[in-house]
Amino acid sequence: MASAALPEATRGTLLGHPKGLFILFFAEMWERFSFYGMRALLVLYLTKHFLMSDESSGMIYGAYTSLVYITPVVGGYLADHYLGQRKAVLFGGILIAIGHLLLGFEGGGGQDAVALNAFWTALAFIIVGTGFLKANISAIVGQLYPRDDVRRDPAYTVFYMGINLGGFLGPIACGLLGETVGWSYGFGAAAVGMLLGIIVFVIGKPLLLGKGEPAEPEKLSAPLFGPISQEWLIYILSVLSVLGIAWLVSHHDAVGVLLLACGAVATAYFLWEAFGRMEKIDRDRMLAALFLLALNPVFWGLFEQVGSSINLFTDRHVDRHILGWEVPASMFQSVNSMFIILFAPMFAALWVWLGKRGAEPSTPAKFGLALVQVGLGFLALVWGAQWAGLENATPVVFIFLIYALHTTGELCLSPVGLSAMSKLALPRMISIMMGVWFLATAAGDFIAGLIAANIGAVSAKSADPVLATLEVYSAIGWFGIGVGVVVLLLAPFVKRLMHLDRLKDA
Ligand code: GLN
Repeated sequence: MASAALPEATRGTLLGHPKGLFILFFAEMWERFSFYGMRALLVLYLTKHFLMSDESSGMIYGAYTSLVYITPVVGGYLADHYLGQRKAVLFGGILIAIGHLLLGFEGGGGQDAVALNAFWTALAFIIVGTGFLKANISAIVGQLYPRDDVRRDPAYTVFYMGINLGGFLGPIACGLLGETVGWSYGFGAAAVGMLLGIIVFVIGKPLLLGKGEPAEPEKLSAPLFGPISQEWLIYILSVLSVLGIAWLVSHHDAVGVLLLACGAVATAYFLWEAFGRMEKIDRDRMLAALFLLALNPVFWGLFEQVGSSINLFTDRHVDRHILGWEVPASMFQSVNSMFIILFAPMFAALWVWLGKRGAEPSTPAKFGLALVQVGLGFLALVWGAQWAGLENATPVVFIFLIYALHTTGELCLSPVGLSAMSKLALPRMISIMMGVWFLATAAGDFIAGLIAANIGAVSAKSADPVLATLEVYSAIGWFGIGVGVVVLLLAPFVKRLMHLDRLKDA
């Protein structure tokens, strides 16, 4: 469409980018506000309101966060083939808002069965909603630019800032309200955040320049079953799937089986592609991608203690007084996003600076560094707590230190990994590769749940729960460092498999 045919508002740019980028920025910012705001309260709510053990809440946290990253694989597929991304994002946003509103129903606490069922249903709404929203809103960002547009990478950087601005503000607002005024106010704030995101997205529709629309709109809206169209069938089935997902969140083992099955199918499929259908160079790249994918669960398995066991540790054993005020534990969940906003530009500049000197670490080396840093973060907390004496509250500076190291680790792995997946995959396999990247993250979240549950179990049995927690942190810290060092040693071989020099020709 010629730009002259577009309404006035849709033309022009802001800060050199299509204005639509800022619609996506704010919509995703509010979605992440609700996601991280709610996540900050989750284990505190489980242990203090529903009086669950640390072990059970660790399991539930793991099941919830891993399902949140499994469903985007399906949401991405449905958007690509039927709905288009814009409708998928809008539908997802509505489901998420319903979920947060439903969470506001506290019921009687303890083992109140009605409240618990409402709770599982609420989490399931958020999981299904995020499946429709998360990957698809990121996809529209790319669609605003021609394929070879140099502004594409900076656009994703801007978008990642939106994610983390939401991740920063959510725990502050929802955490403060939830822990000081009442749980339902915290979850209510998350719902308001998501509703604001939906409003921004709906009002900003013209600025999306018709991107992310369904490929075959007539087919989508034509009656299929009686008066029900294909589009409505997807909506109805998705809402019905909430029931199954609600069952899954409370059945951790079933999520584990689901992940193993999906992981086995994905690995088998990739190996079949690699050895059955690909030339040597593409096969090598596929093997390099599999190597990186296998490290993803290790990283997130350690990192994702943040919202579960570290959140509980902060609540119970950290001196949270800052300027005379005892800061609620959940508010510290914003520190990771704060550091991302501060460090991301420095890392971008660092890679460029090192790159000019031929010293930029390769992608696998960055993964190794990420694992070393996430491990070191745990050791920093362990050493800090021991230095202060286990009978004393740990100084809050060590919480900042663990998050600082986890953030620098995240910056070596998360954006780097996404970009590597898009480079290593054959063009026909990019979507599936991205989906599997999220699946590997989901596996990490599941492992994180197992570790948090284990910490809960051993500290419940131990005479000194703090010591028991720190022993696990020490073990996983050294484990992260150990795997990281091995990855650093293997990095030159894996780098060769990536055949980066021949990427341009491809
Ligand atoms: N913090 C990023 C986000 O919320 C990435 C999270 C992840 O991949 N686990 O989008």
